[in-house]
Amino acid sequence: MTNSLRIITVANQKGGVGKTTTTINLATALAAIGESVLIVDLDPQGNASTGLGIDRRDRLISSYDVLTGEATIEAAAVATAVPGLSIIPSTLDLLGVEMEISNAPDRVLRLRNALQAFAEQASGFGYVLIDCPPSLNLLTLNSMAAADSVLVPLQCEFFALEGLSQLLETVDQVRRTINPTLNIQGIVLTMFDGRNNLANQVVEDVRANMGDKVYKTVIPRNVRVSEAPSHGKPAILYDLKCSGSQAYLQLASEVIRRERQLRAA
Ligand code: ADP
Ligand code: MG
Repeated sequence: MTNSLRIITVANQKGGVGKTTTTINLATALAAIGESVLIVDLDPQGNASTGLGIDRRDRLISSYDVLTGEATIEAAAVATAVPGLSIIPSTLDLLGVEMEISNAPDRVLRLRNALQAFAEQASGFGYVLIDCPPSLNLLTLNSMAAADSVLVPLQCEFFALEGLSQLLETVDQVRRTINPTLNIQGIVLTMFDGRNNLANQVVEDVRANMGDKVYKTVIPRNVRVSEAPSHGKPAILYDLKCSGSQAYLQLASEVIRRERQLRAA
């Protein structure tokens, strides 16, 4: 969208594949190396907001208000306990937004327009990460219309690749219509369990199919990562040394390297 602000949407229409966990921990890792990062929680479930310790009662302005045009990005962003990391929280109001804006000609461009205005203010933010709902609905389309690139978490399970072609087709469609420069940032394999032979097979299959789109970093299944949200903290703050946190730090450096390449291209 602009040269200084990078907007990455974390999308997969399957639920439970690690979108929210990846959004929170990648954002924290980027903030830890000195970037100012904003998460936009676009899932009505609000797991990213909860996982970052934003109480429901404190979600006075939300992503719903941004999509309906009632709030700017600046007004909706709240600081988190992580230095350098802010979030636009979500509320269950988002469930109704699709119907509310479905007749508006700019319905797919609501987030893009809001982020464009934000970017033009030279706000000092380096990254925006968007946490999508488990659906290819208007919310996810808004995120793809607004983003520079899409990051796809895939869970290391037998059906990992199922649904990926539909997701990639949607990315193509957005590229053909509203956002010609949309890239695939990469595909990250999540919840890898090396004791499971099938998981190794899945990693091989995904790499064979998707080649260098797949990050070298694989996120291991790690109980500390799954415990962290109930403490309202990213895994990286909850237990920096655990294998999951270390993997997310590695992923961040791959993401940054790719963003530099995309920007230079
Ligand atoms: P999504 O946002 O795609 O629905 P989540 O990030 O919420 O997926 O992850 C689904 C569940 O799996 C959550 O309970 C989360 O804590 C857990 N989880 C995600 N990544 C890991 C991991 N690397 N190790 C263990 N549990 C994980
Ligand atoms: Mg989620």
